[in-house]
Order: sequence, then structure tokens, then C-alpha cells
Amino acid sequence: MTRTVNPIKDTELKIITNNFAQVVENAGLKLTKPRIALAKALEESTDHPDAGELIIRTKLPTCSVYRNLRLFEEHDLIERVEFDDGRARFEIKKEIHGHLVDVSTGQIVEFDNVKLKAYVAKLTGELGYDLLDYKIQIYATPSKKKESKK
Ligand SMILES: [Zn+2]
Repeated sequence: MTRTVNPIKDTELKIITNNFAQVVENAGLKLTKPRIALAKALEESTDHPDAGELIIRTKLPTCSVYRNLRLFEEHDLIERVEFDDGRARFEIKKEIHGHLVDVSTGQIVEFDNVKLKAYVAKLTGELGYDLLDYKIQIYATPSKKKESKK
């Protein structure tokens, strides 16, 4: 556990977490126009876009999007997420969270998995290992019970 010596004020935290371009710069990458555009597109995306969708959203050349996605990945700033459809999707790196794929619509729902994380860490320890990382992907259809209540 790391201890925070100087607690970050809420206003400062907002700047840090809400400005991915700044995160890119803090990682030592020069803020070029394509990187700013890609950072903005990733920041505004809530749907885990693939490279093709990011090309459309940024209006950047294909090679530029691929090159900068690879660069962001190498600097551990974004995460590649792959579901059953085999498409490589991208999201800004953040706290471990689970993904639920609604197979009827393809919509991806993120969920916080504090309880799961504790369980996975416990299970990993019981198996004699230290947990480094894990991924939770749930494939589901909307509950009929829930729909009939509406
Ligand atoms: Zn996600």
C-alpha cells in the first residue's frame, strides 16, 4: 500500500482524471495534434471503440491512429479489450472493472467489481499465487423479469 503524503484536492484530481491529453503528456509523449485528437476521442468514448471507430471519430489517417494507439499501449495509458467478436477495442486505463456484454444488442456495460476483486485475490492466494491482473467478462441477455416489470 502506498501512502499519500500530500492528499490531492478534488479540483486537482478532476484535472488529472478528466484530461487524458495531460496524462499522455505526463507520460513523456509530445502532444501532437493527432495525439490530442485521439486522447479526446478515447476520453469521450464510453463504448470501447475499435481502431476503425476511432479513425472515424478523429478523422485521422489510419496509420496515425494505429501508430498512436500502439504508443499509448506501450506507455500503459490505454488497455486493449477483446470480446468474443475478436475485435480489439480500446479504453483508457483505469481501476480494474468488469465488462458485461449484452449479446442481444452488443452493448458493453461496465461494472465495479470490488467484491469480485477481493474474491479473486483470495482464491489466487489459496492457490499459492500473488494476483497480478485478471479480467471478468460476462455474456448475458436482458433479464425477462426486469423487462416485464417495466
Ligand atoms: Zn471497460
